[in-house]
Amino acid sequence: VCWSEKGGWHRPRVTPYGPISLDPAAAVLHYGQEIFEGMKAYRHAEGSIRTFRPYENAARMQRSAKRLALPELPSEIFIESLKKLVEVDGDWVPDAAETSLYLRPFMFAKEAFLGVRPSKKVAYYVIASPAGAYFSGGVAPVNIWLSTQYARAGKGGTGAAKTGGNYASSLLPQAEAYEHGCQQVAFLDAEGNLEELGGMNVVLVKRDGTLVTPESDSILEGITRDSILQLAADRGHTVERRAVHIDEWREGVASGEIVGAFACGTAAVVVPIGRLLADGFEIEHSDSEASALALSLREELTGIQYGRVEDRHGWMLRLDV
Ligand code: PMP
Repeated sequence: VCWSEKGGWHRPRVTPYGPISLDPAAAVLHYGQEIFEGMKAYRHAEGSIRTFRPYENAARMQRSAKRLALPELPSEIFIESLKKLVEVDGDWVPDAAETSLYLRPFMFAKEAFLGVRPSKKVAYYVIASPAGAYFSGGVAPVNIWLSTQYARAGKGGTGAAKTGGNYASSLLPQAEAYEHGCQQVAFLDAEGNLEELGGMNVVLVKRDGTLVTPESDSILEGITRDSILQLAADRGHTVERRAVHIDEWREGVASGEIVGAFACGTAAVVVPIGRLLADGFEIEHSDSEASALALSLREELTGIQYGRVEDRHGWMLRLDV
């Protein structure tokens, strides 16, 4: 779908996958004016194709658009774009266990000019690709590298938007994480509060079963995290969304107050965190109950997504009708 200042959203169409032609002066190539979303389509046992909480993704894309001075895409166009894609590519939604079709809606500035101002021409696309387990170890605990040298986003910046610039700034620290044998990088804000991972949110597990997750206006509000915390609250767990200083994690593990942590996001779903490594310290979680809690919440969430567990919150939306 295209957008122009004069014509609004127009020209919805489905085309075969292939290169996009852009003017070399297209604003996105120079100023990074672009946003995206990440979601999945699941095949249920009776054959239907469904997605998870798409109105949340539509709303987040609208918030991202506002921050990046892009036009707001109405939720109806967003949902319709997913349905149209599934209409032609439905066969690509796998029916093997724990596999899905990853959906990537994205919007970018395509007006050709050199100068810093919002583009008057914008394009919105959706592409898709079959997806399996995110980490090669499946749901085995992952190691996290705490970046103390680099930040992902600053106060008042674009941290809460799903925009490429946040990921561009995470590439170097993410490479550092790999060098230290870690699968993901963790970021702190300027005050030392825990933010999130390169592509996932973080939740800490306390000894009494309380779940604690960072609240901040410079992180992405994960839909997986929100859902997992709702499922946990349904089970009677206390959930705290507040600033979490890195010392709280560090000292909490030492004192036994914090017994585990997990990472969560659309791609990886929920994965326990085994170790947190940094220049100068290392935290190790060895509590099997905290791991078991993370995996049981994962099981319930994927159960809803794949249609094995009752969708009591009304989270799933059918795309193939
Ligand atoms: N934080 C970042 C930086 C991410 O890229 C993602 C993945 N979209 C998340 C958190 C988790 O968000 P969600 O659960 O909506 O996928």
